[in-house]
Amino acid sequence: MLTLSKYSIGVGDRFAHQARPQLEACVEATHAGVDVVPVWNKSFREHSIVGSQPPSARAAAEKAVLDLGWVRPWHTDADHIHLGNVDGFIDCSDFFTIDVAENIGGTVDAAEVGAFVYRHPELLQKLEIEGIDVPVHLTQSDLNHTVRKYLPAVHAAGRIYRHILSARRGRPFITEVSMDETDLPQTPPELLVILAALSDECIPAQTIAPKFTGRFNKGVDYVGDPVQFEQEFNADMAVVAHAVAAYDLPANLKLSVHSGSDKFSIYPAINRAMRRFGAGVHLKTAGTTWLEELIGLAESGPSGLALAKEVYEEAFAHREELCAPYASVVDIDPAKLPEPSMVSGWTGEQYASALRHDQTNPSYNLHLRQLLHVGYKVAAKMGTRYTNMLDEAAEAVSRNVKANLWERHIRRVFLGV
Ligand SMILES: [Zn+2]
Repeated sequence: MLTLSKYSIGVGDRFAHQARPQLEACVEATHAGVDVVPVWNKSFREHSIVGSQPPSARAAAEKAVLDLGWVRPWHTDADHIHLGNVDGFIDCSDFFTIDVAENIGGTVDAAEVGAFVYRHPELLQKLEIEGIDVPVHLTQSDLNHTVRKYLPAVHAAGRIYRHILSARRGRPFITEVSMDETDLPQTPPELLVILAALSDECIPAQTIAPKFTGRFNKGVDYVGDPVQFEQEFNADMAVVAHAVAAYDLPANLKLSVHSGSDKFSIYPAINRAMRRFGAGVHLKTAGTTWLEELIGLAESGPSGLALAKEVYEEAFAHREELCAPYASVVDIDPAKLPEPSMVSGWTGEQYASALRHDQTNPSYNLHLRQLLHVGYKVAAKMGTRYTNMLDEAAEAVSRNVKANLWERHIRRVFLGV
């Protein structure tokens, strides 16, 4: 088995141009005394929108690793895959995020539910779990309901896991199971049942991505009650530690926080929980890097700025179409979006101030930021006109990509400062 390190950060590199500054952010972490392993993640959805193939993500990462002489682990994550689209990722990924959110609440044989409940009488006892104030106590009907709801998802994960296992022919890989792209959060007792079921299904999950309470919109801060999030996150960590021991799951099993970029208001809670439990976390980010490309372009000079403005103008014109695949993870108020005619008069500094995630800057506009977050299709359509500009503006772009990951993400989450 390939073992995922305690601290890891998922990074997304939509146009395969930023692996080096992303890795430099991890190098900064090493210098600061904490090892954070990079995992380059790209979903089938992103590849389809950009028009890229899975091996390109690994090639770009590998080049950065060689260029910087990175000797610590690194991985490439086939993000949010299922049986229908995993095959293109088999050879170029060593981390698979098995997405079974759509199987929650699916059909399941009553006999299988009964067999699970029979196998797990311990789940009906009052469980004193270290780190949770109130004991977990599922009633018979809670347990039946939870098993009926999640067993189809766990069975689907098993089918996908076994498919990958056989296709990899002995080459080791890391398994994540994700259930985050759904409307309702999973409670800590539900997480306990899910982990018991994953163990029964013989899935050696090293990360689990539940849906947490609150909204995790793309590229912007957490929307919800940070106090409630902290309670639930602590309880989830306690449940994971309990399940590792009780169900013989991989000892390094940890929580994975999806849409984890830019959730500045809950990073202190995540850091405190890691310290309290001596646990790790996988923080998954992706589009935050593409936004730094735009900021870098805007700061790089007139032609970069003109291209960044063109991306906004196109994204504004096609906002409904661009938002559709991300409907559950963006909240844009169209009335708060500046007119492209106004943006066209902006300086590079004005563009960067509106887009950069600095909540202390009064010009920061989270609606514009979310629109541009889902607007990478516009840049993808520009093809080499966009990527050539990235090369031309490489200095400004790299500086922003690295600083964002290191200063605003890795440092806050993993060092707590
Ligand atoms: Zn996700």
